[in-house]
Amino acid sequence: MTLQMDPVRTSIDLSDRSFKQLIDGRLLDGASSQPVIDPATGEAFAVAPVANESQANEACLAAARAFVGWQKTTHGDRTHILEQIAVRIEDRRPEIAQIITLENGKPIAEAEGDVDAAVTWLRYFNSLRLDPEVLREDDESRIEVHRTPLGVVLAIIPWNFPFFQTIYKLAPALLAGNTIVIKPAPTTPLNAMVVAEIVHDLVPAGVVNVVGDGGEIGPFLSAHPAIAKVSFTGSTAVGRKVMASGDTVKRVVLELGGNDAAVVLDDADIPAVAQRIFEKAFWNTGQVCINIKRIYVHASQYDEFCTELARLAKKAKIGPGLNRDNEFGPLQNARQFQTAKNALGIAARDGKIIAGGNVIDRPGYFVELTVVRDIEETSPLVAEETFAPIRSVLKYDDVDEVIERANRTDYGLGNSVWGSDVGRATTVARQLESGTVWVNTHSAVAPDVPFGGRKQSGLGVEFGIDGLLEFTDSSVIHIAKKAYSDN
Ligand code: NAP
Ligand code: MG
Repeated sequence: MTLQMDPVRTSIDLSDRSFKQLIDGRLLDGASSQPVIDPATGEAFAVAPVANESQANEACLAAARAFVGWQKTTHGDRTHILEQIAVRIEDRRPEIAQIITLENGKPIAEAEGDVDAAVTWLRYFNSLRLDPEVLREDDESRIEVHRTPLGVVLAIIPWNFPFFQTIYKLAPALLAGNTIVIKPAPTTPLNAMVVAEIVHDLVPAGVVNVVGDGGEIGPFLSAHPAIAKVSFTGSTAVGRKVMASGDTVKRVVLELGGNDAAVVLDDADIPAVAQRIFEKAFWNTGQVCINIKRIYVHASQYDEFCTELARLAKKAKIGPGLNRDNEFGPLQNARQFQTAKNALGIAARDGKIIAGGNVIDRPGYFVELTVVRDIEETSPLVAEETFAPIRSVLKYDDVDEVIERANRTDYGLGNSVWGSDVGRATTVARQLESGTVWVNTHSAVAPDVPFGGRKQSGLGVEFGIDGLLEFTDSSVIHIAKKAYSDN
């Protein structure tokens, strides 16, 4: 494992920069503030505003007031504003990417990719229309279905793709005529404060609100009576709480955790497949809901696959994300670092570590990419979602058996099947229980393809027309044509 030296600090200095919330059209300080930690050093590099309940309440009420006017704007009004947001994001791409890397830790090229993806998703949603649909037109009646906005959407954002996640929730919410309150994760607040700067003079006051969170206001916001819908991305445990919170029949879309399996069939080309599985298993230092987390390999190829995956993990370049030579950054925050350390302990206890296995002795939250073999499925490293760069390789003998084992989880976010015979691999894929099953790839998402979880991995979908419709209710207009002409 090569450890890169610290980058020459060519990045922007944010220590004196004042990041603001956006509440009712005003860029505001928090009721308090908190340091933002660079996970590559473990040290604070900026200060972020934190809302109290009074500010959070004001954001919800402002969004509710703004909804009255915003829902009456035309499709053209909204697409014009959203396109201006896209242009401003593009103009600030280098700065936004650096902020993402500084607060999240990921390699700068991936942060740039997040900014580009945000713009792609924004423009995709901006190309869609929500025209009414005529279901019936005859002598008796005309029945139309209109899609109406819901009201105030609360977007709860995790820390793993913070800017991208914020934009792909904001764009469909606004396009459909809703207003929004955005709550970033406490450890990655700055990118959301940049969104506040970008939109504040483009949208009417209250249409977009951004509130800082010190780890306290999530439950207050999701229970707030003004919130019509919560668009939540995070853990299954918190998703359940969000769903149950408050006294209203609020809409929820929940994108939750995953324990994705990769099933490698016995006709797979091991060196090629190991390379791709390596990338999808360790992407974002193992902190992606759709990372490959369990790898099932046929007994006839098990040793070869394990050796190859371990070789790739050992040569990975890990270090601060601002250094372009690095392929993997640190864990995102101190709690995740502890999760990774715990997982390393379980790996050593329950399996055989063939790559990595250690914390990296340097400042920041770095651990080695770790590959574990000869481990039982009952180990928490396999049975639970391991949100850290520690991956298990499991041996199987028979295809029906591996399908049953891959499905033996409450999660159902993604899975993949790998093999040279694509028809055979697809037949196996059809039997795996998840919102997406990939064949010879994994974690591939696109703006026009609905994405969501089955079982305990979520409720509803994001992306695509279906994802946009989640930000609306249907409203049926049923016209009886003969009510008067009969008399
Ligand atoms: P988390 O603990 O569920 O937190 C996610 C967000 O929810 C944070 O902003 C958090 O803020 C907030 N929150 C916590 N308790 C809340 C409550 N009672 N009401 C409202 N909001 C609340 O998740 P995490 O550990 O940060 O992220 C990792 C998890 O997210 C993994 O399980 C991963 O699989 C999942 N994830 C899923 C997807 C997907 O698309 N399916 C994408 C990324 C991540 P506070 O920290 O202030 O509590
Ligand atoms: Mg909390």
